[in-house]
Amino acid sequence: MSTTKYIFVTGGVTSSLGKGIIAASLAKLLQARGYRVTIQKLDPYINIDPGTLNPYEHGECYVTNDGAETDLDLGHYERFLNVPTSQANNVTTGRIYQSVIDKERRGEFLGKTVQVIPHITNEIKERIQILGKSGDYDIVITEIGGTVGDIESLPYIESVRQMKWELGEHNSLVIHLTLIPYLAAAKELKTKPTQHSVKTLMESGIQADVLVCRTEHQLSDELKLKLALFCNVEKEAVIQSIDASTIYDVPNMMLDEGLDVITLKKLDLPIAEAPKLESWNGFLKRLKNPKATVHIGLIGKYVELQDSYKSILESFIHGGAMNEVKVEVKPIQSEYLNNANVAEELKGLNGIIVAPGFGKRGVEGKIEAVRYARENGLPFLGICLGMQMAVVEYARNILGLEGANSTEMDENTPHPVISLMAEQKNITNKGGTMRLGAWKCDIQESSIVSGIYSEKTIEERHRHRYEYNDHYRDALEKAGMKATGINPDTGLVEIVEIPEHPWFVGVQYHPEYRSTVESPHPLFVGFVKAAYEHSIK
Ligand code: GLN
Repeated sequence: MSTTKYIFVTGGVTSSLGKGIIAASLAKLLQARGYRVTIQKLDPYINIDPGTLNPYEHGECYVTNDGAETDLDLGHYERFLNVPTSQANNVTTGRIYQSVIDKERRGEFLGKTVQVIPHITNEIKERIQILGKSGDYDIVITEIGGTVGDIESLPYIESVRQMKWELGEHNSLVIHLTLIPYLAAAKELKTKPTQHSVKTLMESGIQADVLVCRTEHQLSDELKLKLALFCNVEKEAVIQSIDASTIYDVPNMMLDEGLDVITLKKLDLPIAEAPKLESWNGFLKRLKNPKATVHIGLIGKYVELQDSYKSILESFIHGGAMNEVKVEVKPIQSEYLNNANVAEELKGLNGIIVAPGFGKRGVEGKIEAVRYARENGLPFLGICLGMQMAVVEYARNILGLEGANSTEMDENTPHPVISLMAEQKNITNKGGTMRLGAWKCDIQESSIVSGIYSEKTIEERHRHRYEYNDHYRDALEKAGMKATGINPDTGLVEIVEIPEHPWFVGVQYHPEYRSTVESPHPLFVGFVKAAYEHSIK
């Protein structure tokens, strides 16, 4: 039997309590105490992966090195742990069912009736144990998406119940995250919703081992005791999780509350003297003591929902702390940006980032923003669609190629400066068929990026169908937009720059997926630095 220990994180009362942050914070503490930890997310929806979801539905789609399109919580796991995740770290109900149905078609169930129990639950248990069996981890934390009591979560909860029984004492643990609401009129914190959600979990045969209580106010000892008594957990297993000013404070808050210690005790694992959090705390110190503020505009079409650009926003926090400046990000809806209002909208900014995206809506506004940044020496970072629109803008306004566009926006454009990759032309399925995951890129000497990256060949994560059209490369380069990053295997252009401009960089890949607290992404660090220099001019 494997010696890996399993921790399950469930949620009660409401969604959006921050299970991902609690899981990541606990993992950070366990890692800081010398354990090899990974975190997995089980999502109860039927999509095979979130790749086909509109960001308004479920926030950003996060991409791993192996090209998995995953839940944004995996971004938190990587940012906290500084260890890459993979497809195995995110499983959806759709993927579970697809795999079981494929097995059924291959006749693997030998004439049996295929049922939720045991076939779906066995598949779930197998997916949970893949990471444990790899031998790479001492502890696997599995976060169960949704809220207990949801119909679609039931097979996951049942799988947890079975695994707890199979693994035996001290080999697994259930942490239940709940909400303790404060009723202003009664001036009281209320434990009843928590009691009910613990009871709901018990109806499925699971006794929570640890309660993490989300709250806006301090929980008194008396209240903790009441929760412990009614929910059948030890008093020291009632952990307060009070609102934090930054998610990066949560590991230390959990340390103060003893979440890591109670976890290790219950798993019968040795508790080292003190967790090693020096580099984490160094980051926090820089984050909290900025010497200046810079203002950066985020031009996108999903700006109304914070979670749509989660990794970009977090990367600015990392890049800002590295520069000891506070980055104020102003979200700007590209749909309403035009030639007449762009100067007003971008006034007072020290840099702009033009965000990734799909489809036509808002792209003309993005092109206007690029033009403004290019003409006014405003630091510019274009990511994926943002880079593509920088090429379109240059083609239109500098090369004079009227109607230049990406064929994604205009199939009949006379100047397809961004076009579909050859291998994409015959693809009709939308899910999982883009150019995905980590690809190599050679950095050209004496470029902005060569001063930013320490390596000559980098690997960055991609998620797109359309590409820089090499046919226009000569003309674009001669006119001043240089291709400074090239894929060594395919020759595809991955980075463009304008050397005449103080700081103008467009990248076909997504640097934001690789920025972590302990390893802030160099492009964000460089961009924030350029914005800071702009601010003191
Ligand atoms: N829609 C563009 C493409 O598919 C850009 C994608 C993105 O920004 N992630 O190429």
